[in-house]
Amino acid sequence: MSKTLQAIRGMNDILPEQTPLWRYFEGTVAGLLDTYGYRQIRMPIVEFTELFKRSIGEVTDIVEKEMYTFEDRNGDSLTLRPEGTAACVRAMLEHGLTGGGQVQKLWYNGPMFRHERPQKGRYRQFHQIGCEVFNLDGPDIDAELIVLTWRLWGQLGLRDAVKLELNSLGTSEARGRYREALVEFLSARLQQLDEDSQRRLKTNPLRVLDTKHPETQALLVDAPKLADYLDEESRVHFDGLKARLDAAGIPYVVNPKLVRGLDYYSKTVFEWVTDQLGAQGTVCAGGRYDGLVEQMGGKPTSGVGFAMGIERLILLLETVGQVPESIGRQVDVYLCAFGEQAELAGLALAEQVRDQLPNLRLQVNAGGGSFKSQFKKADKSGALYALILGDDELAARVVAFKPLRGQGEQQNIAWDALHAHLANCVVQG
Ligand code: ATP
Ligand code: MG
Repeated sequence: MSKTLQAIRGMNDILPEQTPLWRYFEGTVAGLLDTYGYRQIRMPIVEFTELFKRSIGEVTDIVEKEMYTFEDRNGDSLTLRPEGTAACVRAMLEHGLTGGGQVQKLWYNGPMFRHERPQKGRYRQFHQIGCEVFNLDGPDIDAELIVLTWRLWGQLGLRDAVKLELNSLGTSEARGRYREALVEFLSARLQQLDEDSQRRLKTNPLRVLDTKHPETQALLVDAPKLADYLDEESRVHFDGLKARLDAAGIPYVVNPKLVRGLDYYSKTVFEWVTDQLGAQGTVCAGGRYDGLVEQMGGKPTSGVGFAMGIERLILLLETVGQVPESIGRQVDVYLCAFGEQAELAGLALAEQVRDQLPNLRLQVNAGGGSFKSQFKKADKSGALYALILGDDELAARVVAFKPLRGQGEQQNIAWDALHAHLANCVVQG
C-alpha cells in the first residue's frame, strides 16, 4: 500500500484563499520600495554550502543545525538558502557591482529554508522580503531603511502593533573587547547558566545575551553592557541614527541586549517586534554588516539591510484585523449563458468588454448548466453582478444585468452599452 503523499513538515502550501492577501502584502512592499529607489534582485535558491559557512559564520544556529545541505550529482555540497544576504553579496562580487564605491540599493523576495521546529510563525520554508544597501556607511541610510519600514507599517495599518528596538554592536574591535569582559563575567557563573548558554559561551558568547531562559536572563542584568564598550566612531554613528529617527518622529527603544543571530553584523542592529504573535514576535530585523563583503573576498565595502518575515506579517495583519475587505473579492461580474448560441454570443461579448475594460474581473461561466446551477455559481463566485444571456436576450441583442449584492433592479442592457454601464457600476479596486 502506498502512503498518502504529503508536503514536508514546516513547508506550507499557500492556497488560493490566502494568495490575495499575499499579493496585497507583496504588492504594497514592492510599490513602496520602488518609490524609495530600491531595485529588485533575484538570486538562486541553491548555493554552494561554503557561501553560507563563510558569510553567516560556522558557529551560528543556522550553520550548525538549521541548513538543508545535500550533495548534488557532481559531489558538490549545496545548500537551500537560509537567508538572502549571503547570496546577494555573492552576486555583487561576482558581477562587480559594488566595485569603485558604486552604491547599490536592492531588494529581494523569496523562500528561505531552515530546519527549525515548526510552530506558529516559524516554518522550515518561509518567505522574506529583504533590502540590502552597499557603499553607504553613514547613519542616514540606516535611518532610511527604518523610515521606509515605518511607512510600510503605516500603509498596512500595523503601526500600533509593532515596536522598534535598536542597538549598536560597535566595530569588531570594540565587540572583541566586550566579548572578553562578558566571557569573564559568565565564566565565573558557569554553573548557573542554562545548558544552551554554556554551549554558546564557548562558541559565540554574545549570543548568550539572546537567551530565552529566565534564570540566565536574570543573571545578565548585572553583566557588562555592550554600550560601555562602544568605540567613539560607533557611538557617533548610533547618535546620528537616533537623531534622524527623532527628526522623523519614529518611536524606538534602545535594547542593549539586542545582538541578532547572525555573526556578520556591526554597528546598527534593529528589530521590529510585536506582542501579538506569541513567541515569534520579530517581524522584521536587520542591521549593518560593514565587514561582510571583505570577509567574503571583496574589497572593504559597507553594507546595511533588513529582512522581514512574510508569514509573520500576514499573521499579524489577520490578528489585528487589518486585512482590507476589497482583497477578498476575486470576481466583479459573472456571465451566465444558456444554450449554444448564447454561449457563442456571450464569449464574443465578454472579449469585447475585456478590450474596453481591461481591469474588469469578468468570469464567464464554463461547463454549461441549468439557470439555477449557473446562478448558484455566480453567487458563490462573490461577484457583484451577474450578466444573463438566454434566447430572448440574444434575439433582442441585450443582456440581463442583475445585482447580486444589495440593492438594484434587474434591467436589460444593450450589448453596445454594456461596457459603459459596467464602468459606471463596478468600483475598480
Ligand atoms: P528568530 O529569532 O525568530 O529565529 P532570526 O533572528 O533567526 O529570527 P532573521 O534571520 O533575522 O531571523 O530573519 C529575519 C526575519 O525572518 C525574522 O525576523 C522573521 O520575521 C523571519 N523568520 C526567520 N526565521 C523564520 C522561520 N523559521 N519561519 C518564519 N519566519 C522566519
Ligand atoms: Mg532564528
